[in-house]
Amino acid sequence: AIYLDYNASAPMRACVVDAVRGLLAEPGNASSVHGPGRAARARIESARAAVGRLAGIPAQHVTFTSGATEANVTALSPDWKVSGVERWFTRLLVGATEHPSVTSGGRFPAEAVETIPVDASGLVDVDALARRVAYLQEDGELPLVSVMAANNETGVLQPLERIGEALAGSDCLLHVDAVQAAGRIPLDMTAWGAASMALSAHKIGGPQGAGALVLRDEQTGPRPLLRGGGQEGWRRAGTENTLAIAGFGVAAHAALGELGACDEITRLRDGLEQGLCHIWNDTIRFGTDAQRLPNTCCFAVPGVAAETALIALDMEGIAVSSGSACSSGKVSASPVLLAMGVPRDLARCAIRISLGPETTAAEIETFLAAWQRISRRIREASAGRAA
Ligand code: PLP
Repeated sequence: AIYLDYNASAPMRACVVDAVRGLLAEPGNASSVHGPGRAARARIESARAAVGRLAGIPAQHVTFTSGATEANVTALSPDWKVSGVERWFTRLLVGATEHPSVTSGGRFPAEAVETIPVDASGLVDVDALARRVAYLQEDGELPLVSVMAANNETGVLQPLERIGEALAGSDCLLHVDAVQAAGRIPLDMTAWGAASMALSAHKIGGPQGAGALVLRDEQTGPRPLLRGGGQEGWRRAGTENTLAIAGFGVAAHAALGELGACDEITRLRDGLEQGLCHIWNDTIRFGTDAQRLPNTCCFAVPGVAAETALIALDMEGIAVSSGSACSSGKVSASPVLLAMGVPRDLARCAIRISLGPETTAAEIETFLAAWQRISRRIREASAGRAA
């Protein structure tokens, strides 16, 4: 089987499997004072240090959550403490290509959520954002802004430094969903001017079901989403998922070590794209006018419906993804591509291939050979139907 869907979930790294397997029968609750409890606490704190290093932030600014969805929803709260002082955000401005856990608005009422458009290459319109923020502030409103570091479907990197500059001097805060950026490009909350950042373990080869909300300044953070016990410094109640968090720490350590080694993945991805364009010279690649993650390729061939292609590839043991709707199990046109102005018919043909550190040149070759056969079959069939 060939796995080319790292942006959906990266396979668990061998070092993570080893670490987690060794903990399966460890009973300790990290809040307990006895030996097993203290051992669980030590594992969580060691993971916190590793995630802090990946985030470029002191360990105590990291709050573990059940994943990035929870971290995003926690951050997207009207109610924040800023330098320890209560602040109430009345609006939420989100980029048009954000993950659904952001576009759904978190804890803001639906009428307080606004979308900032992106251009054809998928980049947030920074001028439109700055204008909207200025207008809202003059009107006595206070916006919270959420923009992702890298898009999960196209890999497009948002101009976070420019966004941070545009917001500097205002009372707005910026939250960054850095799920797809982690381990692939450096994370720099200070350069971005971000107050908070969401991370997910399973996108960097850790276990599913762990993530983190990272704060730049410990005194500036959202009201907790889950309240109850005092876990995670009262920022997130509930017994910590020690196993998944420990695995997250091991994955974060490994991912940080790989940051410098993205050239090989870029080379494979670029070779893949050349191969695709060689097979069909009307192949359209999305997001290539912007800076992109090294591992992501999103493309479409007119007349080759993604849904049909995915099933055919799957039957050959090749796992790739369509543009979107991965969580509902059915393929519809990707809102990300639609927001970039891609026509709906073409968006239905969008396929995302995402590579990882384990991907080999031989796998890309096998994929391309399968793609040539499958896409020709589908194209001929759809041309036949049209005739
Ligand atoms: N944000 C982005 C950009 C993602 O790609 C994902 C995962 O699909 C999430 C957030 C949600 O992460 P999790 O699966 O940890 O809830």
